[in-house]
Amino acid sequence: MPEDVPPLPHLTPEEFRRHGHAVIDWIADYWTTVGERPVLSQAAPGSIARALPPSAPEVGEPFTALLADLDRVVLPGITHWQHPRFFGYFPANSSPAAVLGDLVSSGIGAQGMLWSTSPALTEIEQVVTDWLADAMGLGDWSRSTGPGGGVIQDTASTATMTALLAALHRATGGTARDTGLQDGRRYAVYASTEAHSSLLKAAMMTGVGYANVRQIAVDPGTQAMRPEELRAAVEADVAAGVVPVMVVSAVGTTATCAVDPTRAIGEIAAQHGIWLHVDAAFAGVAAICPEHRDLLDGVDEYADSLVTNPHKWLLTTFDCSVFWVRDRAALTGALSIVPEYLRNTASDSGAVVDYRDWHPQLGRRFRAMKLWAVLRTYGLDGVRAHLRSGIAMARRLEELVTADPRFELALPRSLSLVCFALRDGDRTAGLMEAVNASGIAYLTHTRLGGRFVIRASIGGVWTTPEDIELTWRALQRAADGLA
Ligand SMILES: *Cc1c(COP(=O)(O)O)cnc(C)c1O
Repeated sequence: MPEDVPPLPHLTPEEFRRHGHAVIDWIADYWTTVGERPVLSQAAPGSIARALPPSAPEVGEPFTALLADLDRVVLPGITHWQHPRFFGYFPANSSPAAVLGDLVSSGIGAQGMLWSTSPALTEIEQVVTDWLADAMGLGDWSRSTGPGGGVIQDTASTATMTALLAALHRATGGTARDTGLQDGRRYAVYASTEAHSSLLKAAMMTGVGYANVRQIAVDPGTQAMRPEELRAAVEADVAAGVVPVMVVSAVGTTATCAVDPTRAIGEIAAQHGIWLHVDAAFAGVAAICPEHRDLLDGVDEYADSLVTNPHKWLLTTFDCSVFWVRDRAALTGALSIVPEYLRNTASDSGAVVDYRDWHPQLGRRFRAMKLWAVLRTYGLDGVRAHLRSGIAMARRLEELVTADPRFELALPRSLSLVCFALRDGDRTAGLMEAVNASGIAYLTHTRLGGRFVIRASIGGVWTTPEDIELTWRALQRAADGLA
């Protein structure tokens, strides 16, 4: 029998070692030279796909052929998120330590759906989410040693949907999981008009419905939710027999990094028994710096759950979104099902956590490894230095914008995000397009009260003060060109 099995074309561990070294060299060279490339991909639609053969090769090629295509085919179609002058959206930091941690996770290739399917995967995840909670100054409610705890999910969008599932479980007394939302009642969720679209998606997916998301007005000067408007909306719903299920407080909105008043929102939520979910996807990690702890004011007293994304500013390769919940029973109550093939003595003993019950999917990889690698190799001091340098560079850009009479801030800087525009109304979009077309830097925009506003989102791994000066000169040249 064994002689009938042909040799299989796996790379041997020795070949893996050789090609692996070449891949690491390629990544290191990429990081060293990425700043010389235009930030935004210039690829035309379809051009990357056309460079590939229409079907997979019948006979395997050498790995080196793939490596050659990274430069030839892949990089022309990459917008360089790790470029030192990528200032779009929010940073998607992929630090060297995190990349190595992620590689280890791939190499181990373990499935962490149950504690018993790899105890290290679950227990390291519990410890690093506790470490991060501690670093951010979160209270005991967030720790794995109590009735709540943290879990690493793929994205904040999934975490927010998971929070809504737990909130529905609580609000329906458990019937949501058994019979769905078919009890004839209507349910509503609340967030500011500036909150992330993932809440609308979560409402669509959970059966609450898009039309039952109450979008609460913000203060135009701060873009933060007006709690009195929230109170009015909740009271109107209660009077109409609608059940308020969840309110989201945004700590750092995506458009302008506005910070909702979580304490005031939490007081209203507590009065009405509404689940309070804090979406701190981008800004939450700033609380690792004691001078920014006020971002999370009210969270310890009122939050039922909080999400923050190490895969944005905190140096950790996508995907890594940490979600903490005060009462894990609401989560597992909403999501646990135990088919026979997953039964095991460790789970039955109740002594362990099975993370499969903490999010929609079953299988899960060892995401804690890359966050562990970041927290250990940077140390909290190193992490703080990174966060503070992003803020300092944003402050520098803010100064430059303020000093040039052609420009103005659209809002005061929030952490590492600067929102600005030309004073002269309609020309800001053209200015931004000119800078992006130059390849020197990449910026994205939002609209504030209809006005086009450029967002410069600082905080990349490789960004230096010199990159801010280069970008500012590109903005000035573009402004000269418009004159
Ligand atoms: C980025 C962002 C999200 C979505 O993050 P994903 O992890 O990509 O789902 C949600 N909320 C806020 C405030 C964000 O900035």
